[in-house]
Amino acid sequence: MFSKILIANRGEIALRVLRACRELGIKTVAVHSTADADAMHVRLADEAVCIGPASSRDSYLNVAAILSAATITGAEAIHPGYGFLSENADFAETVEAHGLTFIGPTADHIRMMGDKITAKTTMLALGVPLVPGSDGELTSLEQAREVAARVGYPVLIKAAAGGGGRGMKVAQTADELEDAWNMARTEARAAFGNDAVYLEKYMDRPRHIELQILGDNYGNVVHFGERDCSLQRRHQKLLEEAGSPAISAEQRDAIGRTATEALSRMGYRNAGTLEFLYQDGQFCFIEMNTRLQVEHPVTEMVCDVDLVREQIRLAAGEKLGYAQKDITFSGHAIECRINAEDPVTFAPCPGTVAVYHPPGGLGVRVDSALYTGYRVPPFYDSMIAKLIVHAPTREQAIARMQRALDEFVVEGIKTVIPLHRQILDDPQFRKGDYTIHWLEQFTARLQG
Ligand code: ADP
Repeated sequence: MFSKILIANRGEIALRVLRACRELGIKTVAVHSTADADAMHVRLADEAVCIGPASSRDSYLNVAAILSAATITGAEAIHPGYGFLSENADFAETVEAHGLTFIGPTADHIRMMGDKITAKTTMLALGVPLVPGSDGELTSLEQAREVAARVGYPVLIKAAAGGGGRGMKVAQTADELEDAWNMARTEARAAFGNDAVYLEKYMDRPRHIELQILGDNYGNVVHFGERDCSLQRRHQKLLEEAGSPAISAEQRDAIGRTATEALSRMGYRNAGTLEFLYQDGQFCFIEMNTRLQVEHPVTEMVCDVDLVREQIRLAAGEKLGYAQKDITFSGHAIECRINAEDPVTFAPCPGTVAVYHPPGGLGVRVDSALYTGYRVPPFYDSMIAKLIVHAPTREQAIARMQRALDEFVVEGIKTVIPLHRQILDDPQFRKGDYTIHWLEQFTARLQG
């Protein structure tokens, strides 16, 4: 096992990793920008190294500075968290080339899944069903027209290098295809420096269902069931549940078998998530994330597993040590992402937290790096906390989340807590009857 790990991240996820390390008896090194000198992850780590100025490009994405910090502190492994360098194959490779362990999959697998076209062709070859669309990259608008006519409108033009909902444009009809084609490519070129695009049928009422996977270095792969992440705005998740109100245990077993067999054949190791759109009883693979997900806690609650501890153990070369049949599901978990945003316009709202009082009690978990007096910097992601509840049934989890949201005090900045309250009060949400399009229709209705 490692004796010291460097955490190449900030905010709640840096704390999350730090907590797992501490329970394993592993020393931690925090890295931070000048804007984060007072951050909680810096305060709680055994050692901290400043790696650059506020801009992430010069600090949290600064590979040379992070590697120097690891070398001078004698860290043996690097946990990348999510975002920043977590899905950067070159970074993983460089870390390993310096004799350190990257806590995640191999650089080859990160690279393979980072290109969504390669990800889809790989999964198809391994027997995983896909959303209907183009066979790989589209090289001309004419080709896009042919594929769109074959799969039927509406269609989606998507960037091969896409992420965070960027580089994705809908064409409702053939008339809109040229604009969608141009816009998706321009956005992809600007955001990712790569304008390769592909086409998918735009599904009208799917749910976003994803499967949590762990693999060891010896070909053993298990899954921890599904998360329903259909509540999204601008293709960004806001509230997640485990399990999905729409999936039966039999369906979970079936898709779980397909996914674990595929990843075992690939030799996939460490944590990963397969994302599917689910409609009319069919799972259609869209992409794989080769890292820990923001919403991993809902899985931890229903499976009673510490996924970060598992990531560290597996990266250290330990075997999984359990089989699929040993993984059981208990109760229901919900996560609300608390963003420092205006709950109506969603404009980011950085500033000083005048009062911070997180909720507590049975079945309530808050993953956050906030404290009273903390200044939320304007340079990074607006998510400031995750509120997670666990209860025996979905109905009880909803009641628990409502009371936890009522207890949650964050003064001085605006947050999306009021929006979460409205969602949890809504009869359709309470029935579990929603798709990926529901939240945008719901917020439009609220703004009415
Ligand atoms: P990103 O990597 O940018 O997150 P994804 O491929 O994971 O992109 O898609 C993000 C979200 O966009 C999905 O959860 C879903 O809501 C929507 N989406 C993606 N593909 C489709 C599709 N073919 N039809 C309808 N919605 C889609």
